Amino acid sequence: MTNDNPNSHFDSKSLNITEEMNKEIDSLNDEGFSIIAMKRLCEATGLDYKSASQYVLARKRSTIPCPFCGKDLCTVLAKQCLECGMDWHDPNNLRQL
Ligand SMILES: [Zn+2]
Repeated sequence: MTNDNPNSHFDSKSLNITEEMNKEIDSLNDEGFSIIAMKRLCEATGLDYKSASQYVLARKRSTIPCPFCGKDLCTVLAKQCLECGMDWHDPNNLRQL
């Protein structure tokens, strides 16, 4: 019997995953580099690849808040906000639509 619910059996304390590791996983996830996050987790904790990938995917956020108004964006890769109209495709040239 396998349990495919990734949230049910992971506890970062028992797995000995540090807060820094979690932060690194989150930022890699947000940038679309989940595979790299899984590899890093395996190396850092000695976890097997299957468990590491389940852990990484369980932490993956479907969305992140807008850095300007705090409303959820459409996707983690969104570079503009439909709520406040800010557009940061070019971080040096912020625009408000
Ligand atoms: Zn916004």
